[in-house]
Amino acid sequence: MAIWNLGSINIDHIYRLDHLPKAGETISALDFTHGLGGKGANQSVAAARAGAETYHLGAMGSNDQWVIERLADAGIFTGNILRMDDVVTGHAIILLDENGENSIIVHPGANRKLSIKMLQSRFDNITARDTLLIQNETNCQVEGAKSARKVGARVVYSAAPFEIEAVRAILPYTDILAMNAGEADQLFTAIPGDLPVSGLLITRGADGAEYRDLTTGQTYQQAAFRVKAVDTTGAGDTFAGYFAAALDRGDTIPEALRLASAASALQVTRYGAGDAIPMLEEVVAFLA
Ligand code: ATP
Repeated sequence: MAIWNLGSINIDHIYRLDHLPKAGETISALDFTHGLGGKGANQSVAAARAGAETYHLGAMGSNDQWVIERLADAGIFTGNILRMDDVVTGHAIILLDENGENSIIVHPGANRKLSIKMLQSRFDNITARDTLLIQNETNCQVEGAKSARKVGARVVYSAAPFEIEAVRAILPYTDILAMNAGEADQLFTAIPGDLPVSGLLITRGADGAEYRDLTTGQTYQQAAFRVKAVDTTGAGDTFAGYFAAALDRGDTIPEALRLASAASALQVTRYGAGDAIPMLEEVVAFLA
């Protein structure tokens, strides 16, 4: 049992400003921080902190060794992260104003330089007892999902950032499709009929989450835990990583929903994305 995550690795550069710059304006930042980000890296951190054996499949530039160290410190196996010369590590420039409004530029860098030639031998290591997690910030998601499905592994696809053509291409090879409420609305508008997946996980922020088992028709609801949220960035990734890890260790759907919900409730009480994801022991203590 292991989790393989084909996912993005980004460095987040976060600038706090008193207002967002208008076209042509130059302003000084009040503060600067940088940290680990990217939906892929966040989901790997969540799965590893949830206790799953987690292998990240991805790419970054040849510098930024601290990123690898940060991922390894979280308990992730980093041996399948390709280091590329002449390509920058994916990064996001995040501008935050005093009211919490933001403007973000994302440069995918190495995340979008992955090719099937680089990845196929790694996909071939996925076994029937494993789970493959994927999102929309790398290349080769369809090939990964096909390889995983061929051996009978579980494919969990987090359809974010939402791109309908990417979703359409991966759906036939997906077991569990995970989305937030906005993404689910876009999906049901674009594809109103039956979906070729066995489960749908929909998260609704402070309104909780639900899982629809499309094979039995049963729906499971999970209320959100009431906490004082200070920063919800990465809440969905925390949920997806914890949920996948819980299923991987054999939890039932209601158990997995409860664990993931508690983990993301704790995560939103802290500033940051990946760095704010709690350890399993903290989540267990929170639930006790
Ligand atoms: P993001 O894009 O911010 O990473 P998302 O939109 O993908 O998040 P959400 O649906 O907002 O994901 O949140 C995922 C889960 O996190 C929710 O289902 C819930 O369990 C938990 N969560 C989010 N916000 C809160 C909150 N304010 N209080 C408690 N739990 C929360």
